[in-house]
Amino acid sequence: MTFRLDAQVTGIEEVGRRAGAVHLHGGARLPADLVLVGIGIVPSVAPLLAAGAHGGDGVAVDDGCRTSLPDVFAIGDCALHANRFADGAAIRLESVQNAHDQAQTVARLLTGSPAHYDSIPWFWSHQYDLKLQTVGLVPGYDAFVLRGDPAGRAFSAVYGRKGLVCAVTSINVPRDFVQGRALIGHPFDAGRIADASTPLRV
Ligand SMILES: Cc1cc2nc3c(=O)[nH]c(=O)nc-3n(C[C@H](O)[C@H](O)[C@H](O)COP(=O)(O)OP(=O)(O)OC[C@H]3O[C@@H](n4cnc5c(N)ncnc54)[C@H](O)[C@@H]3O)c2cc1C
Repeated sequence: MTFRLDAQVTGIEEVGRRAGAVHLHGGARLPADLVLVGIGIVPSVAPLLAAGAHGGDGVAVDDGCRTSLPDVFAIGDCALHANRFADGAAIRLESVQNAHDQAQTVARLLTGSPAHYDSIPWFWSHQYDLKLQTVGLVPGYDAFVLRGDPAGRAFSAVYGRKGLVCAVTSINVPRDFVQGRALIGHPFDAGRIADASTPLRV
């Protein structure tokens, strides 16, 4: 697989009534059997905002996923919530785990149990032989340490914000992902974190 960063697509060429090549700025022509287009998502919040719910990029919710409209909740990709793992910033989290966790919060509230959403964000993906796992939130980090050698295709990146560990991303090191989860919010000790022979656990 080849990544072409900062490339600009100028056109998709039709070959025999289907997409057969992608043209790039600068003249390159990439023949293709199939063209996949990944351009992000826009949450469909217009109906709720038109109904009077507060929000913007998402529907604003409190820690019980309540919108500003009575008896109306919002969960998942569209829910704009204050997240302590993002330093308290209002964010939307696009992950299956977040949609599940917020659904559980709302289900508990609707059935009369106390609940508030405060789950640690985590994500995973498999890309060929690479197992990617992240716990915590990377944006806003101000410190960064690598554990292991990327050339060996098994390593972790640990991120810090304001002196505390804010995220751990592991490539083919599930142990770091599991142990790193407990490390989130603890002091960012760069020397200790960088030593791959020492477990990441607190
Ligand atoms: C290509 C891709 C890959 C992804 N990979 C991962 C991954 O590896 N791991 C991970 O954790 N997450 C992944 N995600 C993100 C994950 O899919 C979403 O975070 C998750 O599906 C959000 O769930 P949701 O219920 O909030 O929204 P959705 O699953 O988007 O469900 C919203 C539903 O509401 C419907 N809807 C919208 N407007 C209206 C309306 N006005 N009336 C009625 N229905 C309406 C939509 O049709 C849709 O069915 C991926 C997303 C994409 C697009």
